Amino acid sequence: MPTLDSISGTLRILDKYDFSFQKRYGQNFLIDANILNKIVEGAGITKEDTVLEIGPGIGTLTQYLCESARKVIAIEIDKALIPILGETLSSYDNVTVINEDILKTDLNAVASKYNEGRPIKVVANLPYYITTPIIMGLFESDAPIKSMTVMIQKEVADRIKTGPGSKDYGALSLAVQFYSVPEVIANVSPECFIPKPNVGSTVIRLTRYEKPPVNVRDDRFMFRVIRAAFSQRRKTLVNCLTSDSGLDLNRNEVADYLNRMGLRSDIRGEKLTLSQYAELSDLILDR
Ligand code: SAM
Repeated sequence: MPTLDSISGTLRILDKYDFSFQKRYGQNFLIDANILNKIVEGAGITKEDTVLEIGPGIGTLTQYLCESARKVIAIEIDKALIPILGETLSSYDNVTVINEDILKTDLNAVASKYNEGRPIKVVANLPYYITTPIIMGLFESDAPIKSMTVMIQKEVADRIKTGPGSKDYGALSLAVQFYSVPEVIANVSPECFIPKPNVGSTVIRLTRYEKPPVNVRDDRFMFRVIRAAFSQRRKTLVNCLTSDSGLDLNRNEVADYLNRMGLRSDIRGEKLTLSQYAELSDLILDR
């Protein structure tokens, strides 16, 4: 049987199971051995590692991971893919497939159950429609995640490192800055997938800091503030924060905090640095 990492191998298994691609699940399967090798090498997977794969698809990257890792846990939402994975991964005894939505998965429970709470590495060719919630969710979960090596849209990778003032600056770039060191592993052309996505792709590795570069009392609260701050880009920070009912802030209070930080009360959220968000979040918590 041809391997999965080619167009013929992929089509053969898809035809056998009469599989139809689900656009709503962002299904673009990898068919390029060179890129698959680069992902596994870039993630630095060894026989010591437990890997969490998000969206195994038909198991192409999963097979590479099973060869290199101690244990692989693969979480796939599409139940039509589960019997296919049963066949393509049948020769590996170090993989567990879970039919679940990653955004609803308790990652801490998965890490405790399958890796006794020890650090895990995430590796994935991500479904692009939920890149930000997946990455933010992984950072903000309590799960012991050491690194994430993920294929994302090139445009998203390009803007992940932007700073204040850029139109692409937002919760994702701030989260990446706060939680990790980002590195580009490879740029990937649409030809490496079936079906071809209509955008370019990039594999990045986000290595989690043991200690974030900025001190803040409650990082999850800071990211609540950040999400609220970017919720309406045309509005001022005071307007954005006071229209988030969950934060329960009034205009005078927010203006006062900004004033204490040496900032104007009509500033927009996109102008604040990570350190300034940390300071603002601590001031709000202190009230
Ligand atoms: N890993 C495979 C590969 O590289 O060929 C498939 C990658 S494909 C870009 C994304 C995969 O994520 C698909 O298999 C899709 O069904 C799955 N997926 C989409 N949304 C998901 C979710 N919320 N939770 C888990 N898997 C999801």
